[in-house]
Amino acid sequence: MDLKSTKRKGRYDLRRRSKLVAFDMDGTLLNGRVIYFIGERFGFLGEIKSIMRGRIPPLEKSKIIAKHLAGLDAKEILDTIKKIPLMTGALETIDRIKEKGYPMGVISDSFTIATSYLTKKLDLDFHMANDLEVQQGIVTGRIFAPLGWEQANCSCRRSICKRFFLRKFANSMNIPISNCIAIGDSLGDWCMLEEAGMGIAFHPKDRDLTKYADEVIKEQDLTRVLRWIV
Ligand SMILES: [Zn+2]
Repeated sequence: MDLKSTKRKGRYDLRRRSKLVAFDMDGTLLNGRVIYFIGERFGFLGEIKSIMRGRIPPLEKSKIIAKHLAGLDAKEILDTIKKIPLMTGALETIDRIKEKGYPMGVISDSFTIATSYLTKKLDLDFHMANDLEVQQGIVTGRIFAPLGWEQANCSCRRSICKRFFLRKFANSMNIPISNCIAIGDSLGDWCMLEEAGMGIAFHPKDRDLTKYADEVIKEQDLTRVLRWIV
């Protein structure tokens, strides 16, 4: 992966009225990783962890992980997702952003079964993730990856290019990208943190992510982002 930063500094304007907030899901809005909870519930956590550690291109990784879900009941997966705790401070943070009237949502390289549930539960404005194919209530093991890097000219080559979808949501709501706030904790978030006027590395799992961030929050408390959302 090309990790050279092209971050353009100093564009974010705290005084601008219109803002948009994009959250990553695993380890950011949720205190944990959806696929780990599913792996634990259905008995293949070890395999998932070794795939995650492996040197497989990110898009392939998403496809291989989805194959592990083949044959599972989508409702049981959703029941597992419902038990994952929110990040410390998530509810307070979301309430404060709502008070300001800023649109916010989740852009994740996990699955829409989780992001759509969270979007409804937390009353968010948008979400984007990989779509798990489900037939008669059973997961087939195939995913529809949204991609986007081929259009955004992004080197992430992931199942979802968070840069592309951040831009897309911002454009659709007429909010300049310089006034978007992107918040994420892992390397999968680098291109959205680089793209946003304010990229925040939240409790980062990988030091490399901080190269793309304007701000780094070391504490595992989401309310720490609020000082940048005024
Ligand atoms: Zn990208």
